[in-house]
Amino acid sequence: MAGSVDENELGTRTGPPTGPGWGAVAVISSWPQSAVAWERAKRSLGAGVSTGLRASMKPHPLFFASGSGPRITDLDGNTYLDHVLGWGPVILGHAHPVLDDAVIARVPLGATFGAGHRLEYLAAESVLAAIPGTERVLWSNTGSEATQVALRLARAVTGRDRYVKMVGHYHGWSDSFLLGYRPDASGSMTGAGSLGQRRGARDEVSLVPFGDLDAAIQAATAPGADIAAVFVEPVLCNSGVLAPPSGYLEGLRRLCDEQGIVLVFDEVITGFRVAHGGAVERYGVQPDLIVLAKALAGGYPLSAIVGRGSIIDRVASGVVHAGTYNGNPIVLAAAMATMSVLAEDGIYQAFEERGSELADGFRAAITAQGVQGWVNHVGPVVQCSFGSRRGDSFEGFLAADQEFYDRVTVNLLRRGVFALPGGRWYLSTAHTAADVAETVAVFADSLSATLAEGPGPRELEVVASG
Ligand code: PMP
Repeated sequence: MAGSVDENELGTRTGPPTGPGWGAVAVISSWPQSAVAWERAKRSLGAGVSTGLRASMKPHPLFFASGSGPRITDLDGNTYLDHVLGWGPVILGHAHPVLDDAVIARVPLGATFGAGHRLEYLAAESVLAAIPGTERVLWSNTGSEATQVALRLARAVTGRDRYVKMVGHYHGWSDSFLLGYRPDASGSMTGAGSLGQRRGARDEVSLVPFGDLDAAIQAATAPGADIAAVFVEPVLCNSGVLAPPSGYLEGLRRLCDEQGIVLVFDEVITGFRVAHGGAVERYGVQPDLIVLAKALAGGYPLSAIVGRGSIIDRVASGVVHAGTYNGNPIVLAAAMATMSVLAEDGIYQAFEERGSELADGFRAAITAQGVQGWVNHVGPVVQCSFGSRRGDSFEGFLAADQEFYDRVTVNLLRRGVFALPGGRWYLSTAHTAADVAETVAVFADSLSATLAEGPGPRELEVVASG
């Protein structure tokens, strides 16, 4: 029940027409149908959203009707160039015909069997062929599940309990992993990430700074450290898109070899994105286990634990890996289609080019406006932040002016570009050079509009404390 408002009726279209050249024409002033939907959603859905962060969208959460290629359309009929891309999974753009055809062909054959089917091993073979040095795959549904399976396997093969985690890295929302991700209200990085989290979880982890090999060595070799696994996002995508310092991943590999520790690359973002074989291919370092999700199935819910047979085969001897929906045939059909498109020639070269164009365009706009800011990118993942001078560390990322960035994202939205909060930008195979040029032009316009409306970015001196 939506009260007196008819949600099926489109509001007055306030948005711009789509396509190049619209920029000077129209700016969206309000989102009446999304506002109605938001009010209604809050009455039935916890917090009005399906995942917490979406509630913080400025000026209020938008509701979408459809997507096609690099663009999505909201309930008010406004179309945006989409750089959120489902927070990463939509790597082929929306409704890619190869992906759609694969899913549509599979749907009439049944939703799930709770038993074996061919796509389980066919899709696994595609993953193993794509990622160097991998021997086995386990299917799960989300990154948060898969990281827990990886930790459990590591504990089982080492007989140890604790793990090393890098500050600012995200490995899902579970009690074991939602630690040392963002500072709490007092600025401390050591508190629990959520109310209700198991109190003992903090004792199971040694937190160290990303890129500091000595700190990792100390944590792993301290008396009583009891370290089963080192977890790392090989590119710290969740906190600044920070590439690993030269020699760092190799150093972690050596440490784990010397200490009999399982090295886990969390490639939920980097997998099938920073190269066809993910960070393993890009940086040439072989972890024991890799966690994949997001890009793997082009927007359908699939994750995987991939790596050494001697570890993963422990699921046949005492390690429980379960899940009603594991290896769902429709989702695996989506994965096979996605991987087949991503295996085409030129995809990753184009990602490099589009990523550079986006990053260079942002830099030029920031310089032209004379504001303090920085831009990082690795392949098609770009980070843009304002207010701090340092884009080379997690501390620099924390020092960025998030309020200013939020104001920029509202201006982007008003001008037809949908961007994540926090400064990360995604690209899909559907984003052309012309799309990127349009995004850059809108960004420049939005930045100057934001500066005209109010104060520029503040230089914050937030420093993560241990
Ligand atoms: N690891 C990383 C690196 C991630 O970025 C995410 C999600 N953003 C996860 C794990 C958790 O994945 P999911 O949201 O599918 O549970």
